[in-house]
Amino acid sequence: MDSADYALFRRQLMAWYSVRARDLPWRRTADAYRIWISEIMLQQTTVAAVIPYFERFLTRFPSVEDLAAAEEADVLRLWEGLGYYSRARNLRRAAQVIVEQYAGRFPADVAELQSLPGIGRYTAGAIASFAFDLRAPIVEANTLRLYCRLLGYEGDPRAREGSELLWQFAEAILPRKNPGLLNQALMELGATVCIPRNPQCDTCPVQRYCAAFRENRQESIPRPKTRTKITDITEVSIAIQQGPQFLLRRRTEKERWAGLWDFVRFEIDPGDPSNLIDFMVETVRTKTGLSIELGPQIVELKHGVTRYRITLRCFVAHRVKGRLLAREEWKWVAPESFHEFPLSVTAREFAVRLTP
Ligand code: SF4
Repeated sequence: MDSADYALFRRQLMAWYSVRARDLPWRRTADAYRIWISEIMLQQTTVAAVIPYFERFLTRFPSVEDLAAAEEADVLRLWEGLGYYSRARNLRRAAQVIVEQYAGRFPADVAELQSLPGIGRYTAGAIASFAFDLRAPIVEANTLRLYCRLLGYEGDPRAREGSELLWQFAEAILPRKNPGLLNQALMELGATVCIPRNPQCDTCPVQRYCAAFRENRQESIPRPKTRTKITDITEVSIAIQQGPQFLLRRRTEKERWAGLWDFVRFEIDPGDPSNLIDFMVETVRTKTGLSIELGPQIVELKHGVTRYRITLRCFVAHRVKGRLLAREEWKWVAPESFHEFPLSVTAREFAVRLTP
């Protein structure tokens, strides 16, 4: 495509977008705060899953000042179930920087936006172009696929060379006027028409500019990511009971789901059932300082985290004696108060089963 083609490309795309754009809550605004929250939530998460979270989050924290003043646990509680919890912790930290260093106003500058916690090149471009109408390019999952197909690019779009090519293209097609709207139209086209499998080329407004379509290579472009090998592991989650309360532990900064609360949890070797009970009792003693009497398994849950497929066996146990180790943050919590704590998804499922 040359510059004359770009102009036609944009016209056709915008004509399509004006009638086909989905009405999404974060599209009804040019408010940087709302755009930022939606873009962070949409990373790794579908639009349908994000909508209720977005609405709840904005009701609870309607402004950047409200978010900056929030307790981390309250932010995590609202994020519960969305996963990738560092996003929520970074949101709160970035809100504090915006309040302290920018008097609560988002900087209208890509480099300054990118210096905030959790804001990468794409998110900075989205905020800059949607909220401030700056000519800032964007490449995210949907536009990455779309640009690869338009260019017929068969290399690895995530490697340096491919990535540079796509960012250059993303910048070259932006107009001087309303670049934010064009970015939104490109993302929408990638999300709804130029989809990963069976792209809807027959209804695509930019079909005539598409190299992959011309050469019938839509299905092989972009090059798929190399698959990560999945490892199966088994963990146990042990709800230690003392009277009417159960022991919760706050997960530390170095662990996955940092800041969330969980029952005592660790990996076991399921291939050695003879020593399993002794191993569990001893591990609990080492991790908590408590001696326990192990009760029945309540439920077995399956879930995936990054490259792990986890089988989680959930037990109850009774505290017999011992004092909790001071190096960790613990709380004895009655089931009716579990809702006050942000829990990992599996801890919540287990907690529900412990609630009468
Ligand atoms: S013609 Fe097909 S492959 Fe090309 S951009 Fe449109 S939907 Fe995607």
